[in-house]
Amino acid sequence: SAKQTGGNQYRIYDKDIISTNDYRFTLENDFQRALEEQEFFLVYQPKVDINTGDIKSAEALIRWNHPTKGLISPADFIPLAEETGFIVPLGEWVLKEACRQAKEWQENGLLSYRVAVNVSAIQFQRTNFDEFVREVLEETNLEPEWLEIEITEGTFMEEDTFTAQAVTKLKDMGIYISLDDFGTGYSSMMYLKEFRLHALKIDRGFIEDVHLREERASIVQAIIQLAHGLQMDVVAEGVETLEELTYIKMLGIDHVQGYYVSKPLIANQFENLIKVPK
Ligand code: C2E
Ligand code: MG
Ligand code: MG
Ligand code: MG
Repeated sequence: SAKQTGGNQYRIYDKDIISTNDYRFTLENDFQRALEEQEFFLVYQPKVDINTGDIKSAEALIRWNHPTKGLISPADFIPLAEETGFIVPLGEWVLKEACRQAKEWQENGLLSYRVAVNVSAIQFQRTNFDEFVREVLEETNLEPEWLEIEITEGTFMEEDTFTAQAVTKLKDMGIYISLDDFGTGYSSMMYLKEFRLHALKIDRGFIEDVHLREERASIVQAIIQLAHGLQMDVVAEGVETLEELTYIKMLGIDHVQGYYVSKPLIANQFENLIKVPK
């Protein structure tokens, strides 16, 4: 079934249909029921050390197994969930489920990598997010060192001291913080200076055909230098080919993520991945 395959190859609805009001209305009405009926599930994609091949992190990515519409990609419902505020309960579910899974992996002796959770800017703005994270870690008995949180540049866009404090508190708790989709938003250098996050994830838009596109190579090279100057790790998102991998390795990338290494997998497939001897 679709569920077993994970991945995000199931973009069954085209953009024209998605953007109609009818479709939006239907999805919006479906959200609460879907949460109750456990139609959401997480798939995990490894982030791997480019030099050793070690898995550093497993990024949790949400999927919606809709009873009539089939598998729906987060690109098609996360924006709507953000607009409607549903991202708050949904994001809470994601965090709990990812921490629960991490703890289970740990108890089975499998956890030697972080579990990474994407957190929307809205979750920071609307909730006491750092407090919630603290509660979930306590409930699941997971040490903060095993949790990674991926935020985007949008998180820092508004002059919001509340959000800034929450990010700082998470960092102080020992949680690893990555800046996702780097280079696609307002890449202000101010917050890089101020927050000293752990990693920059270079958006796939710069990685695709990087070995053939001089301007992309220049940007990737500059981001690597910037990150390393700030003692941050650099992750390449969406690496699909050996050519891209070889090129960014030469440029000095630390970690890679992408279909070339592995597609996102459901939990038990992910376990098989890490049981495979190198
Ligand atoms: P993201 O966090 O930047 O995740 C990377 C996306 O790229 C994922 O899409 C992943 O499946 C896809 N990807 C990974 N490797 C490759 C590759 O080699 N080639 C290509 N073409 N794509 C690759 P996905 O799972 O559809 O998620 C899309 C976005 O939805 C995520 O982007 C993230 O912004 C958001 N998202 C997903 N799960 C959650 C969640 O639990 N909470 C929140 N707030 N957002 C989420
Ligand atoms: Mg992410
Ligand atoms: Mg990204
Ligand atoms: Mg993205």
